Amino acid sequence: MITSELIRRFDIPGPRYTSYPTADRFYADKQGHALERAIEARRDNPRVLSLYIHIPFCESVCYYCGCNKIVTKNHGVAMSYLQTLFSEIDHIARLLDHGRVEDLLVAQLHLGGGSPTFLSDEQLGELMSHLNYRFHWRQNCEKSIEVDPRTINVERLAHLKQLGFNRLSFGIQDFDADVQLAIHRVQSFSSVQSLMKEARALQFDSINMDLIYGLPKQTPASFLRTLQQVVSLRPDRIALYGYAHLPERFKPQRRINQEDLPNAQQKCDMLDEAVSFFMAEGYEYIGMDHFALPHDELARVKKEGQLHRNFQGYHTLKDCDLIGFGVSAISEVGQCYSQNLKTVDTYSQALSLGQLPIEKALELNEDDQLRRQVIMSLMCQGRVDKLAIEQQFGIQFNDYFTDALDRLTEFEDAGLLSVSDTLIEVNEAGWFVIRAIAMAFDYYLWHETDHRRFSKVL
Ligand code: SF4
Repeated sequence: MITSELIRRFDIPGPRYTSYPTADRFYADKQGHALERAIEARRDNPRVLSLYIHIPFCESVCYYCGCNKIVTKNHGVAMSYLQTLFSEIDHIARLLDHGRVEDLLVAQLHLGGGSPTFLSDEQLGELMSHLNYRFHWRQNCEKSIEVDPRTINVERLAHLKQLGFNRLSFGIQDFDADVQLAIHRVQSFSSVQSLMKEARALQFDSINMDLIYGLPKQTPASFLRTLQQVVSLRPDRIALYGYAHLPERFKPQRRINQEDLPNAQQKCDMLDEAVSFFMAEGYEYIGMDHFALPHDELARVKKEGQLHRNFQGYHTLKDCDLIGFGVSAISEVGQCYSQNLKTVDTYSQALSLGQLPIEKALELNEDDQLRRQVIMSLMCQGRVDKLAIEQQFGIQFNDYFTDALDRLTEFEDAGLLSVSDTLIEVNEAGWFVIRAIAMAFDYYLWHETDHRRFSKVL
């Protein structure tokens, strides 16, 4: 399905659309007034909450990394960071709270980073106690945590379970020894195998594994061995990301030897091989870079057309407000996005002055909301119901989106989607370039020329 012709024509730099408008469109909002207004606006109709907590620390750097993290072996830094995090949680919880349970009702919690498991068991316990004190958990609340297998053992897994986590996400990337050396992330298959065995015994509800194709020293043959090892562990979900080599933007990537990177054809073969292999092994394609076993919640909501997308990727919760805590974390409350300050110093300083630690925000106008609906519909369902959009927004779809529909012609001619009077529908091959298809509807992209800051879509 994935041909070199497809790559040549459509593997262009583009956003991942974890939001629309994308975060590079947010404007300065140092005092956090936009988020305050959005929180105030939810007073009359509080939606259930999804919380994201960013723990920025890692013990060592992975050379492919493009995340906002602080590499240190000094675990003492986590203590003062946690205290600052607690003051942010307190500040936001006070704004949300109007004396009703629904003001602070949480249906999803996700700890990401960095490496949340950089925190000690005791520190994770304190964090969960603080959240327990400030928020109410909805029944069956999803509580997930990203786990770096190098920083955890079976005892720590049991402790995570005890703290109430019911979902795990293991950062794997690749099991091949040469690749692991080239990316400076060495972790054995047997250690992950033991962790998986224990996690199953502890009955975590869902376990995800993250993989990356396009890493240095990877070949289609070596990557197939990794895929076989991963699938032998039967994770409920698999996220398969393409490595984006942007050394001018991400300093750790400068340690990667350019000659060690697979070429475009090899990358294409690895993606193709992975997709076929996962499908043959009973996984369902969720969208873009996600796969899940049929029993998993993600596969179920995909079938029901209820899949959603936010800053953490695909998720299952409809109509929620996302609050991000910690450095660089992003919130989405009502029609407002806001992003926290990106360094620990500026973040701590704002909170010590009693301010929200916000760097930038964006309040969506009507056109943003309409385009967000269309783009998210493409990203999550691979289709757009033109009539439903017309009804919801009071527009004539074909008139409003004349330019965007013109841009889709190229994809239609390539056999990647079909456009009728009522529907835009992406087919299986089209899913691989869904970001490029969604770009047709991005107002901001077509009003500037520099797309280079984005990674390529495949
Ligand atoms: S990839 Fe993850 S663990 Fe590695 S340096 Fe980046 S944030 Fe840390």
